[in-house]
Amino acid sequence: REQMILGPAHWMELAHYPIGKFYQDTGRVRDLNDLAHRDDLIDYYKAFTRKLKLENHIRTGTRITKISPALEKSKKTFIVHSIEQSTGKTKKYSCNHLVFAVGPRSVIRKLDVKGIQHKYVSSAYTHPNDYPGERVVVIGGGRSADWAAQELHDSGRSVVYVMRQEASSHLNLISASQYLPYYQRWSEILSSEQERMGLLYSSKVTSFERDGLVNITTPEGSVVVQADHAIVEIGGDPDYGLLSSFGDLTFHKKRDNFRFQLNQMVVNQATFESVDIPHLYAAGYIAEGTGLSVIGFHAGCFLIAGDILSKSAEAQ
Ligand SMILES: Cc1cc2nc3c(=O)[nH]c(=O)nc-3n(C[C@H](O)[C@H](O)[C@H](O)COP(=O)(O)OP(=O)(O)OC[C@H]3O[C@@H](n4cnc5c(N)ncnc54)[C@H](O)[C@@H]3O)c2cc1C
Repeated sequence: REQMILGPAHWMELAHYPIGKFYQDTGRVRDLNDLAHRDDLIDYYKAFTRKLKLENHIRTGTRITKISPALEKSKKTFIVHSIEQSTGKTKKYSCNHLVFAVGPRSVIRKLDVKGIQHKYVSSAYTHPNDYPGERVVVIGGGRSADWAAQELHDSGRSVVYVMRQEASSHLNLISASQYLPYYQRWSEILSSEQERMGLLYSSKVTSFERDGLVNITTPEGSVVVQADHAIVEIGGDPDYGLLSSFGDLTFHKKRDNFRFQLNQMVVNQATFESVDIPHLYAAGYIAEGTGLSVIGFHAGCFLIAGDILSKSAEAQ
């Protein structure tokens, strides 16, 4: 269930503990060029934290609600406000340096159309078994929606896939990514005489009616589709609101036909330190100049660690 991994295993490994070594240590017989399975990957990251003795430094089930500047006399730079999700208990942490890596979808986008509250409309895709029935409308256009549409199609459903983007942008991604089995499968679906995948480009859902009727505008005019389920997978945005106490931030509009559709924080390219907030480092998807996959983001972490170490040494 919910495998949702689209790249080979070694794209997602972290230095210090190669994923091949993890497979060997745990008796897993795997090809590094195959798509990693989510269950393997989660175990790998857990094993990684144990190997580097990081467990005591990680707080799970905790949401950060705000980051603010510390008082000058405290000799700290940041106050991080948190809430423990199971108990509602709040707690503040202080620190001198902060790595900000909230990812591309920390605020999930909402589709603002009539009827979104109907039971047959889901705000995220899970697994084909959760959508009994024959006809599914998928709304989106990024990897999560692509995944949902493909998996539902391959499990025998009739899918109408509604995308805001133009056909060229989606088809370019598919043809440029043929080295990945998941996109090869998309090509097969598109070139076969299948009748169960309807693609509506440059289109928008305008309302969900009570009886499963979904109204859609397309360049050719309006259409109405009868659905058992509608799945909205329209992504999200980084939660830059957490940094609102620091004033305006400088952003790099990162838009490509592939994976990036977000505003990234502008950072010093040698250190990943924010150009707006000294001692705050952007990491992962939200940093300008970041790599393309997990292994690419990981490279940025060495620059961040190096800069923090040298600043700490200077301060002593
Ligand atoms: C369907 C799909 C398949 C993909 N397949 C691959 C693949 O095969 N290989 C690959 O390399 N990449 C893949 N990617 C891309 C990869 O998942 C992302 O590039 C990567 O996860 C981004 O890492 P990140 O650390 O920037 O953000 P995230 O992985 O999104 O991590 C951000 C974290 O911050 C946490 N967070 C956010 N706000 C708060 C808050 N206020 N308080 C506390 N915690 C918070 C979130 O809960 C999350 O755990 C895929 C993406 C999708 C959608």
